[in-house]
Amino acid sequence: MVYVILAVLGLIFGSFASATVWRLHEQAALVGKKGTKTAARKQQLSITKGRSMCAHCGHELAAKDLIPLVSWLWLKGRCRYCHKKIDDSPLTEIVMASLFVISYVLWPLSLSGGYAVAFCLWLVFVVLGVMLAVYDLRWFLLPDKLVLPLTIVAVAYVLTLVYLSGVVSTLIAPVIGAVIIGGLFYALFQGSKGEWIGGGDVKMAPALGLLAGGPLEACLLLFLASLLGTILSLPQFIKGGRSMKMRIPFGPFLLIATFIIGLLGSKIADFLLYR
Ligand SMILES: [Zn+2]
Repeated sequence: MVYVILAVLGLIFGSFASATVWRLHEQAALVGKKGTKTAARKQQLSITKGRSMCAHCGHELAAKDLIPLVSWLWLKGRCRYCHKKIDDSPLTEIVMASLFVISYVLWPLSLSGGYAVAFCLWLVFVVLGVMLAVYDLRWFLLPDKLVLPLTIVAVAYVLTLVYLSGVVSTLIAPVIGAVIIGGLFYALFQGSKGEWIGGGDVKMAPALGLLAGGPLEACLLLFLASLLGTILSLPQFIKGGRSMKMRIPFGPFLLIATFIIGLLGSKIADFLLYR
């Protein structure tokens, strides 16, 4: 039963994530513009107040158009009103649902009492992480409007775990993790003048270090992200031949690595240290 609830919640939050990412990007396009039309558009794009609409014809969507996955399948991926292809693929919803269920299966801690709060904060990280990954894949940017909430969630997550452990010094390990990734990325960013790594990655780094939970886990996270990045960009690299100018966002790999290390990091660290 828990699996079903988490999967359904994942679909709903996946749908919310797709819509929010699109709204944030449309909002960013309006920055610096003025006038009544812009004001109306801003209202329309508000995440809390605006109604859901088609990205092509702007038609407001009815409740029957908004059922995650089901509506998309029913409408065969096309807008009911203008019949153009819906940009948001249900992939985001399916991925979110899977990540929710995997989080439950691999959750390394208890789920009773305060640890349930920690698990909920972890799921919030998953939602924000998917949003950041989608944004980065589509527009090569990790917007502050998502990085800041991610950082707040990471801090809350770590503080909850420290509180539950009752030992203040357990705060030290995640903080060192944050300093390692944050420091390294900042050095890479400064050293390469933003060529090797983006400013968004640097801003996001401390939160990922906190979620990793410790120095060894932080190093594992970096290793895993680089490995995933290398493997998954090889086909593109071969296809692109000698041109080194192709752009591959690093954010999604960092977030996937954080998801894996956040759940399995302590097990992997134990294995490396004691076997
Ligand atoms: Zn439409």
